[in-house]
Amino acid sequence: MSANTQAEVKPRPQVHFATRLRRQALRLNRLGRELKMIAWGLMDTKHVLLAHLIPIRRCNLSCAYCNEYDDHSKPVPLDLMYRRVDRLAAFGASIITMSGGEPLLHPDLDDILWRIRRTGALAGMITNGYLLTAERIQRLNQAGLDHLQISIDNVMPDEVSKKSLKVLDQKLELLAEHADFHVNINSVLGSGVRDPQDALTIAKRALALGFSSTVGVIHDEQGQLRTLSDKATDIYHEIKNLGKGSYARINWFQHDLADGKPHEWRCRSGSRYLYICEDGLVHYCSQQRGFPAIPLDDYTREMLRQEFFTKKACAPHCTISCVQQVGTIDNWRSPQTQPGFRPYPKPASLVQLGSPTPGAD
Ligand code: SF4
Ligand code: SF4
Repeated sequence: MSANTQAEVKPRPQVHFATRLRRQALRLNRLGRELKMIAWGLMDTKHVLLAHLIPIRRCNLSCAYCNEYDDHSKPVPLDLMYRRVDRLAAFGASIITMSGGEPLLHPDLDDILWRIRRTGALAGMITNGYLLTAERIQRLNQAGLDHLQISIDNVMPDEVSKKSLKVLDQKLELLAEHADFHVNINSVLGSGVRDPQDALTIAKRALALGFSSTVGVIHDEQGQLRTLSDKATDIYHEIKNLGKGSYARINWFQHDLADGKPHEWRCRSGSRYLYICEDGLVHYCSQQRGFPAIPLDDYTREMLRQEFFTKKACAPHCTISCVQQVGTIDNWRSPQTQPGFRPYPKPASLVQLGSPTPGAD
């Protein structure tokens, strides 16, 4: 069977009735916590909504476009990770997501996830999925993982990315069978993607397996838009209309970008969204590392407040979807009038590889 057709023909793995009931109860529990998070986010602007925390920079893959990994870094020690989680909890972080590198390479990942859950935050993870097995997924269930995202770049692996549906489809089936947590599959569109049709195939397969689906618009090394071709724009709109599991339909911020227009919004990075690198520094986001680059231990509530009102020059063409999702909570209020901590552009030493980053987010 070709990978191109499996979205339409491969059935979803059968799951026992008792398992379906348990998952439904967990889903409702998660939904309750998410609604509480949104309500609290709307009522109070002084806490962090989402933090991406890097437990290890090393990755087991080497996607040609990626500037967020290396092949040698050691895992961040567990006591340091605990300290960072607790510090984020003190800032009221509602969601703490493990990213990388490849977070599954961290030997104490489950302990970190459990620590996150103990703070009351939702626990998330972004992974390339290669290291998932049935047993590993069950341990993630026990650790309390709430959300998992895998980015799939193409249907067949190529020299740019091995994160292909052909390789990962068996992992997706394992997730459909064993995962108690929510799974989102992100596909990508934009220059650098050989066949935009792949994104549609991947989105359909995700929905057929009972997952949600998002589509990322390729950005350059500073998180900025690369214009979509007409075909890619058409496919973006087709994915958007796939049904309720297709979150592209509610990611309004992408609609302008897909049509090649700047998007008016207020980036609250450094305040409502924090990116904490493996060295424990707070950055605006994965593509604006170096700003403000202040140790999390030294980050203060005053800095959170200042960044809430700081206008980010890169916002109109930004494609970093997680920060834009966070922005929707506050876009309607509190105009940003302050200039950034430091001027753009970022230091050349932080621009690695100089190519777009489709999957990582
Ligand atoms: S995109 Fe993800 S999987 Fe690929 S090298 Fe970067 S961190 Fe690893
Ligand atoms: S607008 Fe915000 S999220 Fe987007 S690239 Fe700039 S700092 Fe990062």
